[in-house]
Amino acid sequence: SKKKKETAKVTPMMAQYHAIKKEYPREILFFRMGDFYEMMFDDAIKAAELLGITLTKRGRGTAAEAPMCGVPHHAVEGYIAKLIKLGQRVAICDQVQDPKEAKGIVQREVTRVVTPGTVLDENCMEGKDFQYLAAMIEEDDQLGVAFMEFSTGRFEVTELEGEQRYHQIMDLLMAKNPAELIVRESDAWSLIDPGYLNERCVTPIDDWYFGKDYARQQLLDHFEALSLDGFGLEALHLATRTAGAALSYIYQTQKGKAVHLQSLKVLNQSDYMVLDSTTQRNLELTRSIYDGNRGESLLGQIDYCKTVMGSRLLKEWILQPLTDIAQIVERQTFVTSFVDATIPRAELRKILCEVPDLDRQVSRLAMGNITPRDILGIAAALGRIPAIVEQLDEVVPDRYGLSDALFANLWEMHTQISKFIVPEPPSHMRDGGYIGEGVDQELDELRTLRKDSRAILAQIETREREATGIPKLKVQYNKVFGYYIEVSKIHTAKVPEHYIRKQTLVNSERYITGELKEYESKILNAEEKIIEIEQRLYQELLVDCQGRLQDLRIWSKTVAQVDLHAALADLAVQRNYCKPEMHAGDEIEIIEGRHPVVESLSDEPFIPNDTFLNQASERVLIITGPNMGGKSTYLRQVALICLMAQMGSYVPATKAEMGIVDRIFTRVGASDHLARGQSTFMVEMTETANILNHASARSLIIMDEIGRGTSTFDGLSIAWSVAEYIHDKQKIGAKTLFATHYHEMTELEKLCEGVTNLHITVKEWKNKIVFLRRIEKGAADQSYGIHVAQLAGLPGEVIHRGREILSNLEKNELDTTGQPRLAHSSQSSAPSPPSTGELQLSLFGPEPSPILDELRGLEVDQLTPLKALELIYRWKDM
Ligand code: ADP
Repeated sequence: SKKKKETAKVTPMMAQYHAIKKEYPREILFFRMGDFYEMMFDDAIKAAELLGITLTKRGRGTAAEAPMCGVPHHAVEGYIAKLIKLGQRVAICDQVQDPKEAKGIVQREVTRVVTPGTVLDENCMEGKDFQYLAAMIEEDDQLGVAFMEFSTGRFEVTELEGEQRYHQIMDLLMAKNPAELIVRESDAWSLIDPGYLNERCVTPIDDWYFGKDYARQQLLDHFEALSLDGFGLEALHLATRTAGAALSYIYQTQKGKAVHLQSLKVLNQSDYMVLDSTTQRNLELTRSIYDGNRGESLLGQIDYCKTVMGSRLLKEWILQPLTDIAQIVERQTFVTSFVDATIPRAELRKILCEVPDLDRQVSRLAMGNITPRDILGIAAALGRIPAIVEQLDEVVPDRYGLSDALFANLWEMHTQISKFIVPEPPSHMRDGGYIGEGVDQELDELRTLRKDSRAILAQIETREREATGIPKLKVQYNKVFGYYIEVSKIHTAKVPEHYIRKQTLVNSERYITGELKEYESKILNAEEKIIEIEQRLYQELLVDCQGRLQDLRIWSKTVAQVDLHAALADLAVQRNYCKPEMHAGDEIEIIEGRHPVVESLSDEPFIPNDTFLNQASERVLIITGPNMGGKSTYLRQVALICLMAQMGSYVPATKAEMGIVDRIFTRVGASDHLARGQSTFMVEMTETANILNHASARSLIIMDEIGRGTSTFDGLSIAWSVAEYIHDKQKIGAKTLFATHYHEMTELEKLCEGVTNLHITVKEWKNKIVFLRRIEKGAADQSYGIHVAQLAGLPGEVIHRGREILSNLEKNELDTTGQPRLAHSSQSSAPSPPSTGELQLSLFGPEPSPILDELRGLEVDQLTPLKALELIYRWKDM
């Protein structure tokens, strides 16, 4: 049959291709052929489009015709990077046999698989971020999760259980932002936000990776341990299984090359302040809401680090503030040492500017795929050790506890590399030339031989020109003929007999001679040997350096710490921060606090404000004042100061005494969600439910304008009941800042002990308002909304009419539809102040309301957001 004929025509190489491709169905297969990596069939069609390269055909016109495209092998990393960034996986199939030795087709094998979470190439990584591979598993109402940062060797696991586990896992995923998530093929992750998963690279892998015994054995083998007790893992089965799966996955993709993960840490949730994903976003910790970039975020504004390692560590500190006072104080002490040591700090920071990303070079070294340039980079970084230590001795005399032996070992490594590698090695290794002189005698001799022969070839050119009288005779080289003599056509008559013609071009002829070939073979032989020797020496150097990896890693961690401590010190000095005093109590007292980001970005002077939070009278602060007055800024400033204090940093204030906060919750304007097509109100209620369900008396809650996403009465009643619930010590009793435009809420101060009203001061001047931005006790007298509208440039007529309606409203109630009653139809009086017993009722008028009764009877924390929404719709219809 026709089919049979086609298969009969398949060449051995294509058979080889198909056999390999079968093993890697999900990857784009880069198949090495000569100087190119070729892609074929569907891979070719996909890659050609993604990479913007030309799609050609192999075996054109034959039955075996196939789409194909290729990239030159020396530029392959760039193409891989591009595909990885586009979320693809790439399998690299190399020739694993010298073509000269091959009988028939050369052997090929996949030597590595590159995936978004296992990539080591700088082009694919955002330098200042960790790039995590995550593994997750769910079983028996528990979640296990592992995070591995392959390029820096970080490896962390944890287990989550209870009702909050899905929230917690989302928080963790948001914080770590893994580039790739591996899960069991059989698990359906329907309970995790599908929107989140869709935007990420999720790789389902065979279930056996997560097998209990298999995973455990993988870890034991890798760490050469007899038990997992040392890691605190023996009882954490799910964590163990995810860690084992992540490890096997790395071994699989890296094809067993040395994997340098050296430790495994169990993340204990209670060691850190919890910052859920909403809070991370609302407080703009690592990206601004405005443009999604790092620049205007807290991270962007307080990052004074000089090395990427320091910046990476800072991000981790921001997203995982501590809860243990001793640990916080330890960090503070380091920062203080640097604050006090002005000159050594400046000197150190100057030196640190020159220290490259050691973490990542170290990983490459461990994997053995480090270039001479990069290894020289390590040597250069190590060369700065004496200078760093000299300054460090002035600041932290115990040198962060590092031993002399470590320094000696690293110094040896520095000398070794500097001796082996030339000062400016070529960008690729294929032509040699990276090993220095004086390293190996044979190498030096061969190089001399090559040099001499080249000199002789140059002499031959001059000599032959004279002998033949051909002025433009040239000795040249190409890959096909080796060395040859080129003579232009007009002179060919003068060419002597012993020249052997090899090629005719349009304007010239090319010849070889016996003498040329003799030197050529000398040079080529020497060259081949040189490359071989250089490669061997390089491998020896790598093995030597790999033996010192442990110390190198410790050093790179220390550099990150030194850099960050010094950077936080510089920040504190330059921005006039103070050292917060941490205490075991519950009160928070901030004198002249400022918002770290607004202060640094704004041209106007920032007006500082005090904050007092305590259990007795100032537990819930209700903040009123005009729009644009500075309410949101104040709220966030308090949260950020708490967070920075628990990071171990100084804070923007003149004095701060801080009790430890276990979590920060935020609920602020939901405008950024609108693009995702979720109802604003729904988002608001979901987030509020999350807070009510999870906050403790130790938490700090920031509520900005809750209830705005719905009609006035809905919003007010919900805001009110939420505030009451949070305030209630039996329920939550958390420290809370509550900014609202519902003026009615200031009544809570009279009704609930622990509630205090604050307002943002403004001055009215010639019908306009001036923002004073000072926080003072008491409620704001007016909403000033019309003044703000005026400032914003609304037409005069609209402003005028607004004033009219406002004055009517101030005389009259709103009717139940939320529409103002017009002045001429007015007969009712001003709203009566709520009385203790029938608080909410009085806000809505004198009639008893079935809705309110129902609302009071509700167990808010038992309510799903959807149910809440349903209820509200039903109430609206009533
Ligand atoms: P609100 O939440 O009351 O509408 P915002 O907190 O958004 O007001 O503040 C409005 C503007 O005022 C912000 O753009 C901010 O730059 C500025 N601002 C807020 N607080 C201060 C302050 N204490 N000192 C100086 N400028 C401030």
